[in-house]
Amino acid sequence: MPFQQRVFSGVQPTGNLHLGNYLGAIKRFVALQSDYDCIYCVVDSHAITVPIDVWGGPTELKRATREVTAAYLAAGIDPKKHIVFNQSQVSGHAELAWVFNCVARLGWLNRMTQFKEKAGKDRENASIGLYDYPVLMAADILVYRATHVPVGEDQKQHLELCRDIAQKFNNDFSESISANGHPDGYFPLTEPIIQGPGMRIMSLRDGTKKMSKSDPSDQSRINLTDDADAIALKIRRAKTDPDPLPDNEAALEARPEADNLVGIYAALADITKADVLKEHAGAQFSVFKPALSELAVTKLGPIAAEMKRLVQDTVYIDSVLADGATRAEVIADETIRSVKDILGFIRR
Ligand code: ATP
Ligand code: MG
Repeated sequence: MPFQQRVFSGVQPTGNLHLGNYLGAIKRFVALQSDYDCIYCVVDSHAITVPIDVWGGPTELKRATREVTAAYLAAGIDPKKHIVFNQSQVSGHAELAWVFNCVARLGWLNRMTQFKEKAGKDRENASIGLYDYPVLMAADILVYRATHVPVGEDQKQHLELCRDIAQKFNNDFSESISANGHPDGYFPLTEPIIQGPGMRIMSLRDGTKKMSKSDPSDQSRINLTDDADAIALKIRRAKTDPDPLPDNEAALEARPEADNLVGIYAALADITKADVLKEHAGAQFSVFKPALSELAVTKLGPIAAEMKRLVQDTVYIDSVLADGATRAEVIADETIRSVKDILGFIRR
């Protein structure tokens, strides 16, 4: 591949950051830093796609943007070696999204399940931004020509759309792309990084629904800011079945809630679900749940404490975002200039 290896990913500043965001995304972001140049974004332009009473308005958006940034830093992302910034500070995302709006097809977007889930029954009243979300997401990734994107399993379909857009752009403009010095195509076909336990953490109240920031029940998720007591209480109250843990993974398939708790344990401990079962087969939930709480508190406690400290220092957080945006913009601007040349937009 002629493309420089680069990682991009983002988290929306809406609602409560939760264990799924940590295990499915932020923990992976941290791990990838040793092997890639990474760009980690707080995707505030995505946040405003839902109704204002859901994203919370200007004061809440600022608070949440700083909180996600603090979570990145507290989890171990290095904003000097890599790039941390909020999306709206780099206009290239929105500019490229417009071009991609003219590349993506209605039929492709009509298949996106996240829109169907988030718009619910009142689809006519959903924002156009919510419908267009995956196109902006493709622009977020491709404005940096990122080759790899760590995401939770729920974002897999959007990554496929991103590849479709890149491919169609490369095909539609192949002559111009070559003439502008890119004989192998202009955009990479970005690979998702989705593997291991933790890529799909389910609600603690319903093992068939993903844990989500936007779930109205706070009992459904472990927030990254929850203290030890709250974590223990939520795990104790988590829905389960009456059987003890089995000794093999196959037996978890028909038990979504048990499967979820075992998966959470595995992801937190960096072991496989099979390893968890080796250790805990035959255990009742009255024994397994306290073990899980203890592990969760050990792993999440230090992150929560550091987040709490960092969010107080808004001057520092904002300076990290400004510095990251300045460096991200250099890369994005270069892409926008090339895209304009490829399309035939006259520029200064
Ligand atoms: P919302 O419900 O508002 O979409 P969210 O919880 O899905 O919020 P996002 O900001 O959309 O959060 O997603 C940030 C990252 O967290 C994405 O990579 C997403 O795939 C991942 N993620 C979200 N929920 C889960 C989950 N339950 N399990 C694993 N990964 C998740
Ligand atoms: Mg989401």
